[in-house]
Amino acid sequence: MQAICAVATAEGEAALAVVRISGEDALTVAEKVFTPYGKSVREMAGYTCAYGCVFDGGERIDDAVLTVFRAPHSYTGEDCAEISCHGGRYLTQRIMRICCDCGARPAERGEFTKLAFINGKLCLTQAEAVMELISAQGELTLRSANLTRQGALFGRIQEIRGRLVTLLGELAAWVDYPEEDLPEVGEGSVGSTLSDCLDDVEKLIRGYDNGMLLKRGVPATIVGKPNVGKSTLMNMLLGYERAIVTDIAGTTRDVLEESVRLGDVTLRLADTAGLRDTSDAVERIGVELARKKLGESALVIAVFDGSTPPEEEDRALVSEIKASEGKVIALINKSDIAADSGYYELCAGLPYVIEISAKSGSGRDRLEAAAAELFGAAGTDDGLIFVNERQRNCLGRAAEQLREALSAHETGMTPDIVAISAEEAAAALAELTGERISDSIVSEVFSKFCVGK
Ligand code: GDP
Repeated sequence: MQAICAVATAEGEAALAVVRISGEDALTVAEKVFTPYGKSVREMAGYTCAYGCVFDGGERIDDAVLTVFRAPHSYTGEDCAEISCHGGRYLTQRIMRICCDCGARPAERGEFTKLAFINGKLCLTQAEAVMELISAQGELTLRSANLTRQGALFGRIQEIRGRLVTLLGELAAWVDYPEEDLPEVGEGSVGSTLSDCLDDVEKLIRGYDNGMLLKRGVPATIVGKPNVGKSTLMNMLLGYERAIVTDIAGTTRDVLEESVRLGDVTLRLADTAGLRDTSDAVERIGVELARKKLGESALVIAVFDGSTPPEEEDRALVSEIKASEGKVIALINKSDIAADSGYYELCAGLPYVIEISAKSGSGRDRLEAAAAELFGAAGTDDGLIFVNERQRNCLGRAAEQLREALSAHETGMTPDIVAISAEEAAAALAELTGERISDSIVSEVFSKFCVGK
């Protein structure tokens, strides 16, 4: 197969860039493009580098370093070469062109990782985790990506599937030899195996929602009556004063959403223009807004002015919050002046009641800790397996089939009927790990990757 090549680093001017080549002929291509100062490319052992230069015909166009990987000890499992050249769009594209003139072809998106998958270097979930690793934006998403890359999700799925396969074996034995004195499969063990598997699959499905909140940010809203310090809090979270109205080519654009980082959790604060619009007093009255926002937000931050006693509006807001099922953090603001104890009484029963000074920033650490507890999977590895959309889809199908199998079993259907759904569930899990998957799905997975990965 023809060797593939791609620029593996981001486009633009940079100190360095890497052009990657993989394939049976990778080192032949590299040899034509790159001339080491020492021994020839052919003589270079795997995992070694050489300093040399890149030639285009007779013209020397760059000094570079070549790294050689020999099959099967490379990312793709094939012979690979990486040219670390100077960064820059023209230079890297020219080296790409030389590689193509010397027999390689430009790689498709994710083609290196696809080769790694095809050559058995990575399973599908590990390959997908490479993409997650690249796009990780914080400690938790990075840890999650690394866990999956190291095989945590694969292991978990294999373990569930293993239990299903054992059960299927028992069910098949029962179907084939109903008269034999086989261990009891018709009673407790079938039901409990199916419901345990279902629990585990559902746990993994929840990892999708947690992951999405961490990756995309938690939709959040700040509510409270006028003058409690909502805008000041917003500015404190943003870290600087930011005008909400920007004049772009004569048009006025309201900021509808802003991202703020609270430790490892990103909050997507909606409707911040309304929040800071001091002239629109009606919009700022807490209760109506809170009712609407409680429904839309994954997190509501309710702000109270601790320097004055609670009023009717504060009480109404708390009742509204308590009646909702959403996640809420109550902030008693202006702690630099005073903290009225009436708010503790008012907020009794809410899981997070925090004194804060939006003005000085004190208390921010406690707000961060609360957000981490609510959305940060509490740091356990178990809660950190964030499945992606495709994996969630497979898990959803597995769960559906497990429910069917369970219901067939509970309604007294024969083991062969139970086995049909259990087998479908096992197949959906095999699709998740990539052990039983169609070429078109594999292509789709890798088409989401970047070129060069
Ligand atoms: P909003 O109407 O809820 O958005 O409240 P603002 O953010 O506009 O704040 C109302 C007033 O309270 C302003 O004068 C702020 O300077 C003041 N304020 C806000 N937060 C604090 C705080 O933590 N401490 C003190 N002392 N004043 C604050």
